[in-house]
Amino acid sequence: MGWVLRLVETETDGAERDVDVMELGRRRDLHDIANLGLTLAEAKQLLTRVQQEIVAAQARDHAVPRPGCSSCGGACHIKDWRLHQVATLFGVVAVRLPRFRCVSCGHNEGCISWPSHCRSTPELDQLRAHLSALMPYRVATDVLTHLLPVASGKSPETLRRHTLRIGEQLRAAPADKLAAAPESITVTADSTFIRNSDDAERHLEVRVGNVEVAEGSRRVFAAVARSDTDIVDLIRRNLEAVGRTETTTVTAFTDGCTGLGSILADAGITKPPVADWFHIAMRLQHAKQAASGLSTDEPGRIAAKTTIIKEVERLHWRIWNGKAKDAQLAFERIRKVMHVFRGERGHRTKGVASRKLWHALHEVDNYLRGQSVRLVNYAERYRAGQRVGTSVTEGTANFLVNRRMNKSQQMRWSRRGADLLLQVRCAIYNGAFGSGFGQLFGPLGRSRAEPTVSA
Ligand SMILES: [Zn+2]
Repeated sequence: MGWVLRLVETETDGAERDVDVMELGRRRDLHDIANLGLTLAEAKQLLTRVQQEIVAAQARDHAVPRPGCSSCGGACHIKDWRLHQVATLFGVVAVRLPRFRCVSCGHNEGCISWPSHCRSTPELDQLRAHLSALMPYRVATDVLTHLLPVASGKSPETLRRHTLRIGEQLRAAPADKLAAAPESITVTADSTFIRNSDDAERHLEVRVGNVEVAEGSRRVFAAVARSDTDIVDLIRRNLEAVGRTETTTVTAFTDGCTGLGSILADAGITKPPVADWFHIAMRLQHAKQAASGLSTDEPGRIAAKTTIIKEVERLHWRIWNGKAKDAQLAFERIRKVMHVFRGERGHRTKGVASRKLWHALHEVDNYLRGQSVRLVNYAERYRAGQRVGTSVTEGTANFLVNRRMNKSQQMRWSRRGADLLLQVRCAIYNGAFGSGFGQLFGPLGRSRAEPTVSA
């Protein structure tokens, strides 16, 4: 048993046309499961050939009508033919298209609206950028060439170039507006660092964050500091996209970097940002862990440890309830009993618990002093169903930056390369990049009844 794949052109004005695309040859018997159906190699070849035939037919069709002269309205005749080599998802195709000239006035008339130097289809460009945003350029290249008959743009460097170009386009794209104006919007902003390829400056600062409305819509944004992406403009556009109006309440959360505070102010968020509870909680957690590791090898230490654990809990409660001013009381009480741990023996790997506790408490104290004006009654906000900050920001930095760009991957980034790749990553996670692949949040403006992420 063998097959020939034949492509039949239908609905033509003239005679029906058909062409044998490919012989699929004899199928081998099914004793071996590996013989079932088409192989990847066959499928790639099949796609390439079908693509070539379809493009050839399209080009033939496209060359038939004669355009009118856009200058004088006269008749045009064919001046010459141009061969366009275009990379598609299914191989490089050669498209032969005519150029026209007006008989009366000599004006040149084209027959395509895409630029003659165009070398790839938008779909291929987008897929290349999409994969590159989710995995290293080299891996993306492998995946692409493994699965598809993509003949050009095989090198990681080509993929990088295309991806960054898409990033540039995304950066310039206007915000897509959401119709419904929300009552309140929460903005969170944070900084993280990636390794710089330029040794003069070891790290690049990346500002990341998200804009969120109570109804559940979320958008992430990111930009490398001192790149061509204007972070203020970026935040503004994201606020616009979720429907900010003059009456919308915008609450911002930051980790306390003063730089971020002024960026948010420039973006029109006039209320001072609130210190993110997550950042406080993390420091308290360190203190709690250290306290629970204190040794109990002497009776005095057992009692002191109990007191300390209780005081750290109380410290947590005070800050949560907006009584950070009383934090000093807890520090005082802990200090009073700490002396019993003098000479405490350290754990082989974990170190000396009392020293760690002291360090952790110092961190909490420092944070409270530095952030005193930005601390709020978190318990009250929480009870009112409002955000108290967000572990989301930390998560945002993680999935947006670290997963693709972090230090453990031994990657070094140029300022421009990292920034533009981040624009593509944000677009993907925001669902603004076509397919649901890689997308984290439902596209804005769509109802919940309309699921967009496929299982
Ligand atoms: Zn003319």
